[in-house]
Order: sequence, then C-alpha cells, then structure tokens
Amino acid sequence: MADKKPDMKSEHIVWHETLVNRHDRHVLNKHRSGIIWFTGLPSSGKSTIAHHLEKELFDRGIRSYVLDGDNIRHGISATLGFSREDRKENLRRIAELSRLLIDAGLVVLAAFVSPYREDREFVRSRVGEDNFIEVYVKCSPETCEKRDPKGHYARARAGIVKNYTGVSAPYEEPEAPTLTLDTEKLDVVTSVGNILELLEKQKFILLV
Ligand code: ADP
Repeated sequence: MADKKPDMKSEHIVWHETLVNRHDRHVLNKHRSGIIWFTGLPSSGKSTIAHHLEKELFDRGIRSYVLDGDNIRHGISATLGFSREDRKENLRRIAELSRLLIDAGLVVLAAFVSPYREDREFVRSRVGEDNFIEVYVKCSPETCEKRDPKGHYARARAGIVKNYTGVSAPYEEPEAPTLTLDTEKLDVVTSVGNILELLEKQKFILLV
C-alpha cells in the first residue's frame, strides 16, 4: 500500500523558483534532456537494451541515467506491491522522479514493464509529449519465460509471486509506440543502433 498522506497539502506549499533552469543545463551539457520509456513483458530485454544504450550515450558525451523496475522497487517504491493501485502509484512516483531528472538535464532511460496503457499515458502527459519517446520491447511470452534471467517467471508459476505480468496479470501492448524492437529478431547491438538512429532523426537530444 502507498505511504500515508502528508500533513501539509500541496496547495499550501509554494514552488521555489530556481536561478538556473533546464535550458541553462542543456547549454552546459551541450545536449537536450528527455525520457526514453521502454515497455514490454518481463525478460523482453528492456534493461539490457537500456544499459547498453546508456554506455553508447556516455561514450558520445551525453548524460543519461537508467531507471530500472527492480531497482526502484528496492527504494522509492519499496512500500508498494503489484496490485492495480500500487502499480499506478509506482508509476506516479517514477513520473515525478523522471520530471526532476529531465529538469536536471539528463536523458532518462526508463525500463519498466508498465503493463497498463493508462499508466504509460499518464507518464507521457506528466513529462510532456515533446520529452517522451516510447519504445516497445517486443518478445513472445514463451521466449520471455524461457529467458527468465532473475527466476521471476518460475516463482510466479510456483505461486510464490502473485499478479505477475505475463503469468497472472495482463500486459497491454502499446498502440502507437515511437519504435518497436522485436528482441527475438534483433540482437542488442542492432536494437541500440535503431534507437540511436531514431534519436538522430527526431533530433531528440540535439546538441545545443
Ligand atoms: P527486462 O528488463 O525486460 O525484464 P532483461 O533485460 O532483464 O529484461 O532480461 C532480458 C534477458 O534476455 C537478458 O538475460 C538478455 O541477455 C536476454 N536476451 C536475449 N536476447 C536478447 C535480445 N535480442 N535483446 C535483449 N535481451 C536479450
């Protein structure tokens, strides 16, 4: 369940204006910030691709940071489970964290199953359409289950993990992702190459 509500309502809190803004940080970094949102079944390859992309961006002098589902659930969302309500709250926290990182000038690489369209659209609207690229990491449930590098599918099949996407909870495919990567056909290097090509074409992290 979500944490208890704060005592002070946000309507009584005044936003503190900064002396350095996002655009100033873009100029300092010499590139724009934004978020690349990887969605797909567990074990489809989201984290693997995000981390390889981070390395490629790093080597090009682009400041990026991977937000990974399992890692977030160790900290910021450690109090949350996998009910519909908790999944929604998990993504709300991630959306707010992403907004801060984007404001800080980073290219956020977010690898989350994010099985519900409604929740992904919430993130998109919260960070802003122009800052958001959706990558659908596509892979059949059978292949994902065979890969299962962390043994999650096995635990879900054994009934140890409840509400597991692909086993006992649904996954809603994106209807119009910016890019689809079929990881049964593309190797990691090709997937990363396709994203870099897209970023260049869309001038997403255009050097400033
Ligand atoms: P997710 O983040 O989607 O849960 P992971 O990246 O943690 O998935 O795990 C995907 C697993 O599949 C890794 O062990 C990875 O090495 C393997 N894998 C096999 N082929 C591919 C591919 N073409 N692209 C990405 N990962 C792949």
